[in-house]
Amino acid sequence: MERDPLKQDICYLKGVGEKRAACYARLGITDVYSLLRHYPRDYIDYSNPVSIMEASPGETWVIRARVFKKGREQRIRKGLSVFKIFVTDDTADMTVTIFNSRFAAEALKEGESYLFYGKVTGNLLRREMNSPQVLREVRGAVMQPVYPLTDGLTNKMVSSNMEQALTFLKDGRNDYLPVDIRESYHLCGIVEALHNIHFPSSLAAQQAAKRRLAFEEFLTLQLGMSQLKLRNRKSTSVLISQPDLSPFFSSLPFELTNAQKRCIEEGLGDFESGVPMNRLLQGDVGSGKTMVAAALAYAAFSAGYQSVLMAPTEILAKQHYKTLSELLEPLGCKTVLLVGSMTAKQKAGAREALASGGAFLAVGTHALLQQSTEFQNLGFVVTDEQHRFGVAQRTRLAEKGERPHILVMSATPIPRTLALIIYGDLDVSVLDELPKGRKPVETYHIGESKRERAYGFIAKQLDKGRQAFLICPLIEENEELQLASVEEYCKKVEKVYLPGYTVGILHGKQKPAEKQKVMEDFAAGRLQVLISTTVVEVGIDVPNASVMLIENAERFGLSQLHQLRGRVGRGAEQSACILVSSHRGEENRRRLEVMCRTSDGFVIAEEDLKLRGPGDFFGERQHGLPKLKIADMVQDTRLLSEARGLAEELLAEDPQLTSPKHRGLRVLVREPFRQIPESGLH
Ligand code: ADP
Ligand code: MG
Repeated sequence: MERDPLKQDICYLKGVGEKRAACYARLGITDVYSLLRHYPRDYIDYSNPVSIMEASPGETWVIRARVFKKGREQRIRKGLSVFKIFVTDDTADMTVTIFNSRFAAEALKEGESYLFYGKVTGNLLRREMNSPQVLREVRGAVMQPVYPLTDGLTNKMVSSNMEQALTFLKDGRNDYLPVDIRESYHLCGIVEALHNIHFPSSLAAQQAAKRRLAFEEFLTLQLGMSQLKLRNRKSTSVLISQPDLSPFFSSLPFELTNAQKRCIEEGLGDFESGVPMNRLLQGDVGSGKTMVAAALAYAAFSAGYQSVLMAPTEILAKQHYKTLSELLEPLGCKTVLLVGSMTAKQKAGAREALASGGAFLAVGTHALLQQSTEFQNLGFVVTDEQHRFGVAQRTRLAEKGERPHILVMSATPIPRTLALIIYGDLDVSVLDELPKGRKPVETYHIGESKRERAYGFIAKQLDKGRQAFLICPLIEENEELQLASVEEYCKKVEKVYLPGYTVGILHGKQKPAEKQKVMEDFAAGRLQVLISTTVVEVGIDVPNASVMLIENAERFGLSQLHQLRGRVGRGAEQSACILVSSHRGEENRRRLEVMCRTSDGFVIAEEDLKLRGPGDFFGERQHGLPKLKIADMVQDTRLLSEARGLAEELLAEDPQLTSPKHRGLRVLVREPFRQIPESGLH
């Protein structure tokens, strides 16, 4: 039997030798099939050329014009020659410049008409076009594909290889999507879709093709994520059922919020399920995630299991240690701290308590990961501020127990539309309620002219015994300059803006011990003002800090501003956040206005998504999550929810996709998820 041409190596195509194959490999294209899945990033629409007169300079146009004169080759300097070609239609003339290609210039014949595609420059009297794409006439498709390229590969090469590849597609070929699904969701067949995505016969045909392929992509991603979830569902012997949490609850100085209670319940459900917890706890800054982890650690303790909580910085680890040991030790749950700055003797003591089973909770930093840290009976693993840790680190921590339960805490709210896709392999608990009595941080956007008043306001707060954060963005690309600008700013604050107050400074170039000391001094109230670059972003808790001023606020993303702002408003006082930005852009004004209007991290994340796209959210999970090639998470939300609905139905009916009619889907899902390791994505 003849081999399926789609599975042939890319060299099977005309004109593809070793060299071109290497270029294709850089784009992830190795065989004919993967070439067909290399979709255009744009199209040139030759169906509606404009006249030269209509083509306003500064934009890209398709123009049909006749060559009436050709200039001679001009050598500008060594290795650079240009050809000027003068073209006209009945409305005006245009000068076309071709660089370094006698071949391209000679192909243009005087008296003949061509289609020129490119950016029009010059002015209204003298239009020009440099290095245009030129077509003699349009064959077949009126929309020509524009492909993502790499060095050594031209759009023409890809287009002609694609034309040949498409001839191997047989009508009647088995579709990945069963016909009943295609019918109920109005999706065209795969052969038609691939033809029309590359060489559409009309805009409508291209849109139908895109819809089909985007739907397929969303569906694949969701089915794949659910299967990952299933794959990780191995059983565990860590069973914690019906723990009595009343001693814990009654020792709390406050009532838990309903959201906290719900998340604890969800965690307890995992504990008694016989399958390891693999859960993300998402909650805005200040929503009380630590208490959820504490309740679950107490539950583990009451069943005789040890727990561990790993934080990304020493200061956070120490803060957690203080909170948790004060809460849990009186209940008999011995707690130890393990961080890099402890003496060898202190560390050995902590490790001994964990190995012997004398301590039930370990709180620390990366120091926990060392081989010498052993547990007698580790049942519950928590990591705080999850995106700071890599998969490998989290796995290493979990390997210190036998299939322990894992909770990952994140303070970055992810828009609901994205959460399912990004975290589809984890169960998600959401803390969507702040503890009672929390006053939202009053937020103002001011320009340079109100700076004096802002510092006056801050001074008043300091006089009342409060503390303040001043945040500088990293203005310079160059690190030395950056440092200089932060230090200069600091001097100005001490001498001009806030004279007479104690000021500390925190930035990325300090040694860890130095940073540590500054943060501790601020936390203990020995410093009144903390000037900082964004290192302060992660979790530091200083309830007495009631005001934050953010310089050049336009340089931060909304989610980042929200994270920063979460450092104030942690105490009982009314707090304030002042966004200084003289940037006049309309979009900037709108962004900052969102900050002033709401303190709901989910709303802000949605806005961020609309304004900046999903890249920032995906950034935190760039570890081999399949990329979307054609579907757009922001534009195609309707399609996304249709695909999600279908994924749920399919999995309810056929969780492993083993039925013969789902064979195509099974193939589709396997491909992009092949790279993902056994331990999953988190
Ligand atoms: P985050 O979710 O940002 O990690 P934390 O766990 O640090 O929040 O909690 C923020 C503050 O709120 C802490 O000082 C904590 O003691 C307090 N807190 C937590 N839960 C409650 C509650 N239910 N009522 C009042 N205060 C609470
Ligand atoms: Mg926290």
